[in-house]
Amino acid sequence: MFAIMETARLEALHLAQDPTTGLKAIIAIHNTRLGPALGGCRYLAYPDEQSAIRDAARLAQGMSYKAALAGLEQGGGKAVIIRPAHLSNRGALFEAFGRFIETLNGRYITAMDSGTSSADMDCIAQHTNHVTSTTSEGDPSPHTAMGVFAGIRATALARLGSDDLEGLRVGIQGLGHVGFALAEQLHAAGAELLVSDLDAGRVQLAVEQLGAHPVASAALLGTPCDILAPCGLGGVLNAETVGQLRCSAVAGAANNQLASGDIADTLQARGILYAPDYVINSGGLIYVALRHRGESLTAITAHLAKISLRLTEVYAHAQADKRSPARVADALAERLLYPG
Ligand code: NAD
Repeated sequence: MFAIMETARLEALHLAQDPTTGLKAIIAIHNTRLGPALGGCRYLAYPDEQSAIRDAARLAQGMSYKAALAGLEQGGGKAVIIRPAHLSNRGALFEAFGRFIETLNGRYITAMDSGTSSADMDCIAQHTNHVTSTTSEGDPSPHTAMGVFAGIRATALARLGSDDLEGLRVGIQGLGHVGFALAEQLHAAGAELLVSDLDAGRVQLAVEQLGAHPVASAALLGTPCDILAPCGLGGVLNAETVGQLRCSAVAGAANNQLASGDIADTLQARGILYAPDYVINSGGLIYVALRHRGESLTAITAHLAKISLRLTEVYAHAQADKRSPARVADALAERLLYPG
């Protein structure tokens, strides 16, 4: 257990169980130097408890980096509820989790994540105020898409010399909550869209509504385009796929796009500009963090504009140091999280 904490540099690891509801929950708090830890709650089945703890620790670390570079007064944390084999009352399980969060006195604030919904957050909210993305707060995805759109403009400017998206060919992998909203904005800005999704219905919608060109999922990464926007699952850029890319830049919403750190260096060596995923996709986190603090939509929109400024700063450092933007972003975040 302590080895996992040391590897991820976790501040604290909290466990709770409740035999009545079947709750087995882990809360990993990575770093609270900049503020209380904020991060989603996963509700998934795991092969064993160690894997669940490792997942929470790794994801909590990522949240600290994302919040730091998003300029939020927020630390990084993550919760995992191990999905029981038999569940009798989902609402009661999430209420028990709400009571667990309350015992931490605000050091951890939870949010929706894989396997959880805003209805689950509403159950949690019956026992604690340290919860975001409830039904009344709304879906953060449109804000993530807005941030990615602005980030694509900054990426086009840095790599292609202009942020005018008219006629730019953008490949979008995944037309879900974020990907479709992004496609709408890119279409409105005059970009030509090449799209893929495992769900043929989503692709059909983009073809009909946005004049997008459909591409088979297996072929999208190798299809020539100016900017590739991965908006599906993580790990899409790996040793096998990185050589297939035929784009000038990668800038998309998916979390953990790089299967390993060295892929960033391969992209750099190939002259493909990479927008660090946790910088460009931080719009949703900005939205939930600021909504939770009671900020206005105007203030949230103003904060979202900082995403492209941060990316531009990262690109400038990367160019000056001849390093991958992913390495530069990590170094900038670590300077904020571990000063001195
Ligand atoms: P979603 O589940 O709504 O959509 C994902 C879409 O990608 C689905 O339509 C799925 O069919 C498609 N897809 C999956 N694998 C694919 C493949 N190999 N080829 C083509 N399509 C594929 O998810 P979302 O909320 O839109 O999030 C998309 C990504 O962005 C995820 O990686 C998520 O972690 C990340 N992200 C989301 C938010 C947010 O606010 N929703 C915030 C930050 C990061």
